[in-house]
Amino acid sequence: MGWRLARSLEVLRAEVDAIAPSRSRASDGTIGDAAHASRPSDHNPNPSRVVCALDLTHDPGAGADMHRIAEHIRTQRHPALKYVIWNRRIASASSGWAWRTYTGSNPHTRHMHVSVGTGPDGRSTGRYDDTSPWGLAGGDDMLGVRRGDRGDRVLALQHTLVEAGFDPGKPDGVYGERTAKAVYEMRKAAGSVAAKDGNEVTPATYAQLLKMVARRNGAGKQGPAGPQGPAGPQGPRGEPGPPGEVDYSRLVAELLRRLTAPGEG
Ligand SMILES: [Zn+2]
Repeated sequence: MGWRLARSLEVLRAEVDAIAPSRSRASDGTIGDAAHASRPSDHNPNPSRVVCALDLTHDPGAGADMHRIAEHIRTQRHPALKYVIWNRRIASASSGWAWRTYTGSNPHTRHMHVSVGTGPDGRSTGRYDDTSPWGLAGGDDMLGVRRGDRGDRVLALQHTLVEAGFDPGKPDGVYGERTAKAVYEMRKAAGSVAAKDGNEVTPATYAQLLKMVARRNGAGKQGPAGPQGPAGPQGPRGEPGPPGEVDYSRLVAELLRRLTAPGEG
C-alpha cells in the first residue's frame, strides 16, 4: 500500500534541509514501524494514506538545533500544526500552545516530533497539506535575547550553550548572571571582543554557538581522500582457448632442426 508525507511536512523538512544541508538524519522519521502500527500515531497513514507526522534529528552542530526550531514552531504556529514534541515537552492547541510535560516513553531528546492536521492521531484531517512556509530560514529567533529576559527562547539558548560546553547553570529560562557569563565565555572562545554586559544574542552570536557545538561534537571539514588500497587478488585462470592456426611446437622443432643441421643457410 502506498503512502505519502503530508505536504506541510515536506515543506518543513525542506526548510530544515535548507538551513542545515549537512545535518544528520539518523533520527528522522516519517512512516511508522510495526510498533507504531499497533497504536494510534500520526506516523501511521490516515485513511487517505497520508502520513501526518515527521521526526527531525537534533544536530545543532550542523545547524539543525531543535531547541530553537521547536520553539520557533510552537510560537510561529503554521496553519497545519497539530502539536510539537521536543525534549520531554509537548505544545498543542489544547494547552493554549504552552509547553507542558510530555510523559511518553520516548523523551524526544534526539529528535523533534511534529504532527499536522486535526483530530485523532493516525486519522488526521484538515489542513495537513497546507504548503505555507514555516519561516525557519531567517534563523533569527534568538535575535534580541538579552540579560534580564525570561522564557522559552532563553531556555532554548541555555540548552544549546550546555551542548556547546558552557555553563549557564541548569537551564531554567532565566537570563541571569550565569547565562550572561556563559554567553560571554562563548564569545571570547569564538574570538569576538564583546562587552561583558548587555550581551544581547545576535544572529552572529548564535551562529558562533552552533559552530562550537559542531567542534565539540567532533565534526570538522571532511578531510582529503585516503590513499588507494592494495590491488585485489588475481582472478581465476581462464579456460584454454581453441587451437590456433599456427602449430608452435612444429615451428620450434623446425627452427631447431635448421639451426643444428649443417650445410644450410
Ligand atoms: Zn515522531
